[in-house]
Amino acid sequence: MDEIRISDLAVFANHGVMPEETALGQKFLVSLSLRRDLRPAALSGDLSRSVNYAEACAFTSEFLRGHTFALIESAAEALAAELLERYDIDSAAVELKKPWAPIGLPLECVSVRIERAWHTAYIALGSNLGDREAYLDGAVAALRSAAGCRVQRVSGFIVTEPYGGVEQGDFLNGCLELRTRLAPRELLELLHSIEGATHRERTVRWGPRTLDLDILYYDSLVLDSPVLTIPHPDLHNRDFVLRPLAEIAPQHRHPLLNRTTAQLLADLGLRDTDM
Ligand code: ATP
Ligand code: CA
Ligand code: CA
Repeated sequence: MDEIRISDLAVFANHGVMPEETALGQKFLVSLSLRRDLRPAALSGDLSRSVNYAEACAFTSEFLRGHTFALIESAAEALAAELLERYDIDSAAVELKKPWAPIGLPLECVSVRIERAWHTAYIALGSNLGDREAYLDGAVAALRSAAGCRVQRVSGFIVTEPYGGVEQGDFLNGCLELRTRLAPRELLELLHSIEGATHRERTVRWGPRTLDLDILYYDSLVLDSPVLTIPHPDLHNRDFVLRPLAEIAPQHRHPLLNRTTAQLLADLGLRDTDM
């Protein structure tokens, strides 16, 4: 991926744990690597299709002077988030150096470097209690207004029969594509908080619920932890997930099964007719 690099922009600011650091301030050096495709700008000569580095430097300097963070980790994190929100970029690496860190020993420099990016996640939505459509619409709206999230595409909602053998009402199911700066666990917490706001109670597994939000994919990440499994382990067996997903992401490839959504849906159809 192409990048725009800014090296060692000097900013006098007040970040630090020691009282003299916040009171007196010191010099920081900040380097940025902003990644995006630069070819459209290169071929057209159109600056609006790139990042105006003069503006990015001015913004960075102002941001670091205008805030006070105890940790340069926090300063770098907040700056990366702002850069991702403000510019049309895929990722932002921020290196923050403190050449005058007051540790009472001679050192050339102390620094942190982080890289943050926009990720693409696919979320499954389901409801089978109360005003199902209102719950799904509410979840889409909540994700639209959540910090660090941009809803890109939303499938139609389909009525489906319950799954997992529990006697209950039909579901309304859908999927959406989300561009997010959140890490997978943060995204799961956000989904849980949106579910929680609908007073969902976790009683019977696969039982009735006002709102269920599952992470299907997160880029091509493969993750298996006690609280979070990505890709969702059962998505390829679920018609009610694959049908709406095929509407918004037919070519998205399952990183473990190496099959696209359209292929997984066709595979499932064949298996069902075999049975
Ligand atoms: P299923 O996951 O089979 O669709 P469910 O959605 O009914 O079942 P829940 O009771 O909603 O299950 O979730 C139980 C737990 O599953 C959650 O608290 C969460 O920690 C965990 N989990 C693991 N992987 C995922 C994922 N990809 N998306 C959402 N939750 C997940
Ligand atoms: Ca589920
Ligand atoms: Ca769930």
